[in-house]
Amino acid sequence: MAVALERHMYGDRNRNRNRRKYRKRRAVLALLLATVVLVGVGYFVSKLVNLPYLLEGNQASHIEDAEHADLILSHHIGLNDAFTVQFAQHALNAQNKRDDQQAVNGGDATDGKQEQAAVEGNQQSGSGQGEAAPVQQELKYAALTFDDGPDLKYTTAILDILKDKNVKATFFVVGLQVGKYPEILQRIVDEGHAVGNHSQNHADLSKRSKAQILKEIEKADQLIEDAVGFTPELFRAPYGAVSKTLHDVMKEKERQLIGWTVDTRDWAGTSPDDMREMIKSETKPGGIILMHSFGGKHIANTVEALPFIIDDLKELGYTLVTVNELP
Ligand SMILES: [Zn+2]
Repeated sequence: MAVALERHMYGDRNRNRNRRKYRKRRAVLALLLATVVLVGVGYFVSKLVNLPYLLEGNQASHIEDAEHADLILSHHIGLNDAFTVQFAQHALNAQNKRDDQQAVNGGDATDGKQEQAAVEGNQQSGSGQGEAAPVQQELKYAALTFDDGPDLKYTTAILDILKDKNVKATFFVVGLQVGKYPEILQRIVDEGHAVGNHSQNHADLSKRSKAQILKEIEKADQLIEDAVGFTPELFRAPYGAVSKTLHDVMKEKERQLIGWTVDTRDWAGTSPDDMREMIKSETKPGGIILMHSFGGKHIANTVEALPFIIDDLKELGYTLVTVNELP
């Protein structure tokens, strides 16, 4: 009987101990669960605030993927993929922004970017007042670019117009032409325009080996250096055709690969009126407009349209800058 009672009492004690243990465990688990939920919510909110930034990051990896896929964006052979080039421009802008968080990007039409500008405005003011943001958004920049020159006819006519309108542009020059007209390249530089390498022979570099790509770039570099005394940082691939190898060479040589967002197809005979309409409707803040300063009789249309194109863009509120000055 005494043994039975003892067992009974010990049993009770054990049960109570187990119950306490169970309660304690439940409390610890609840605490853990609450912590996990809190951390999760905090993480989600922080991501939400940075969402536009993350989206840009995704776009940047998108274009790299595209470039790795041997993508050909051609203006001459008509395989233009403006969508991807716009991604490239966005990626470039995103990179610039990362390089300099202070940089003001009034520049972009996408909601994400405007939100990001607002977020940055808030962060910089530190008080949640993002009132500077709408002002920043009013600053709109675009870049005129002229490929394939220099020459003695169209390049000089284009330079005259740019001088008259007090506008700076970017010339992506071909080594072969630079060798023929180094004095025109000197004039381009003297008048404050930016210069980019556009290869030696306008070859489709997406189809070339690394050694061939290097030869195309370095030959043109040398001729540009001989003419104006420096090597340009900017590079535009002939036909916009990019391969992973070219992409790697760009990185290795610390060149900026420049695409475009508006393709006038001036080389193919787009009329001056159509060029104007196209540029007016397609140019977005941060946009890069592709035209030519050499490459056949149709470039006469470019020369004819250019004064009006500049006026149109100014009327739309754009400040025209060189590619490297784009925010
Ligand atoms: Zn070209």
